[in-house]
Amino acid sequence: PRLLDDEEGGVVFLSSSLSSASSIGYGYASIEKQRQRLPVYKYRTAILYLVETHATTIIVGETGSGKTTQIPQYLKEAGWADGGRVIACTQPRRLAVQAVASRVAEEMGVKVGEEVGYTIRFEDFTNKVRHLSSYLSIFGVIIFVMHAGISSLAVQDLTAIKFLTDGVLLREMMDDPLLTKYSVIMVDEAHERSISTDILLGLLKKIQRCRSDLRLIISSATIEAKSMSAFFHARKGRRGLEGVELVPRLEPAILSVEGRGFNVQIHYVEEPVSDYVQAAVSTVLLIHDKEPPGDILVFLTGQDDIDATIQLLTEEARTSKKNSSGLIILPLYSGLSRAEQEQVFSPTPRGKRKVVISTNIAETSLTLEGIVYVVDSGFSKQRFYNPISDIENLVVAPISKASARQRAGRAGRVRPGKCYRLYTEEYFVKEIPAEGIPEMQRSNLVSCVIQLKALGIDNILGFDWPASPPPEAMIRALEVLYSLGVLDDDAKLTSPTGFQVAEIPLSIWVSGRGAQKELDEAKLRFAAAEGDHVTFLNIYKGFLQSCKSSHWCHKNFINYHAMKKVIEIREQLRRIAQRIGIVMKSCESDMQVVRKAVTAGFFANACYSEAYSQSGMYKTVRGSQEVYIHPSSVLFRVNPKWVIYHSLVSTDRQYMRNVISIDPSWLLEVAPHFYQQHRLNPIH
Ligand code: ADP
Ligand code: MG
Repeated sequence: PRLLDDEEGGVVFLSSSLSSASSIGYGYASIEKQRQRLPVYKYRTAILYLVETHATTIIVGETGSGKTTQIPQYLKEAGWADGGRVIACTQPRRLAVQAVASRVAEEMGVKVGEEVGYTIRFEDFTNKVRHLSSYLSIFGVIIFVMHAGISSLAVQDLTAIKFLTDGVLLREMMDDPLLTKYSVIMVDEAHERSISTDILLGLLKKIQRCRSDLRLIISSATIEAKSMSAFFHARKGRRGLEGVELVPRLEPAILSVEGRGFNVQIHYVEEPVSDYVQAAVSTVLLIHDKEPPGDILVFLTGQDDIDATIQLLTEEARTSKKNSSGLIILPLYSGLSRAEQEQVFSPTPRGKRKVVISTNIAETSLTLEGIVYVVDSGFSKQRFYNPISDIENLVVAPISKASARQRAGRAGRVRPGKCYRLYTEEYFVKEIPAEGIPEMQRSNLVSCVIQLKALGIDNILGFDWPASPPPEAMIRALEVLYSLGVLDDDAKLTSPTGFQVAEIPLSIWVSGRGAQKELDEAKLRFAAAEGDHVTFLNIYKGFLQSCKSSHWCHKNFINYHAMKKVIEIREQLRRIAQRIGIVMKSCESDMQVVRKAVTAGFFANACYSEAYSQSGMYKTVRGSQEVYIHPSSVLFRVNPKWVIYHSLVSTDRQYMRNVISIDPSWLLEVAPHFYQQHRLNPIH
């Protein structure tokens, strides 16, 4: 994050000690006043009444109306957290979980971890002894870990309101299938229709049958409330007598919170733009030059293009002849440090203009005050899965009309605003779809299937989904699990206690500091000829040798906090391994063992380069799809004949991220069943 200084136009780093809006003067109303001004406040009584009398309440309301931060507090005030019960509120995104929990704690005048807590994978800030029911992977390697009775310890839980990702709540069901400690579960941002949200909705509907005391709130900015209501209403074998009113009523209640958004003027580009990073930068500078004060929110797709935009914008602002001083340029994406998050939420100093460059996290999950201008690239990163080729990509893809409207709406929170769409009006009207496709219908379902199996849901194909996944994707997932040995011939989990897969891409490099050259040099210091995974191992060893020094990390462009997480995850894995009786043994310096281990987990991602191919092009073994090594990999331009990748990203081409070189004979060794079964064996 940079602040362009008024006088010199130079780059000055903001101190990270900025506190959030409410604790600084700036003429901000007291927290209680702010709470009462939010649109949901008028509906407080209605919400509490509906929750009391209905098993499920669906609440739709404009982003920023106070759903996430206020409703859990209303519930607590009304006694839903009495007697040691907990109010849960789920979010699809980790960053939102943290940000919202700290805001609510602040409003309640408590510290995070006291009455208000949050849990995301690897971090548990609820008032409770940390427990180990996380299923982990290091360096992106999928590791199967048996869930060996790591049940909650008998500890008094003082948390009244708990924010958590929907994935974490699913995991809690392993220990407590009926989620008995929760009195109300609010599934927030339900319109996002992430896989975890959809699985959760299906399972919560089942839980409701056994727990008439449980209340559900489904909340979102734009949800199709009718179809969600129909989903929760349609029940086989309803209990109760005809004509007798059940309390709570099973028919969901629907409440729409009236927003108070101001008018937003939409501007389109006249000609399609070829480079949205450049177009976004020019647009921001134009707004800054021509428009009255007010902050700018730019929607891009991910850390890469956000960092590129910040770099370009900082340069152009500095060299521009126009008045471009006074810009505070800040990124917003998951993985930001606490201090960086705080800056985004802190009020803009007088005479300055904040420019927040964000992923779609600012579309509905987080509300930024003071935004008057929105610049919309028209794209976001989305997961797409092709069950035929079994390839899942994170693709930069056009957003839906519904998303575009949400993005524009962010400009009208404090006063009438303007939205600059970096696409033509014709494109908006004719080309982009009205609604997005639920993630469930465009994803690899392997971990989804395992999760359900582990929860004892055996008839996966007959599961009651809010939106059914394609049967081919389900069958493909079952097939993969079968060949991995996770499912037996009866399609049951091979371990009695259940398995869980989790895949966590850890990014340990510091980036976005505008020093690409130094970063590249730092990477070279650890680069291993075998590939990225071994490079990560070198970094890990280096970190240990430095006695886990933050100075060492800084010097080497490594994210110290990420490394501390790496150590923590390793420790958790070690303890789980110990508990289930796996004997730990070091591979010493034998990197072949490491490479084989990666091969065993990722055999389905093997690729080879055609003989004599100079272009760096690879073909996937399973689908003969064209792929290339990503420039961030240490194997970029090295191009070993056989590689395994961890993930694919699509931009102009399909790029493999985190790549390791392998010996093709290992594939037959670790997964003979798989390669024969698919007859996709070009190994020669
Ligand atoms: P919704 O969930 O309906 O989109 P929220 O409950 O997230 O709305 O936000 C309600 C209001 O709370 C926002 O308009 C904003 O004023 C304030 N708010 C939320 N989070 C923060 C934060 N981290 N810092 C400052 N204000 C915040
Ligand atoms: Mg919200």
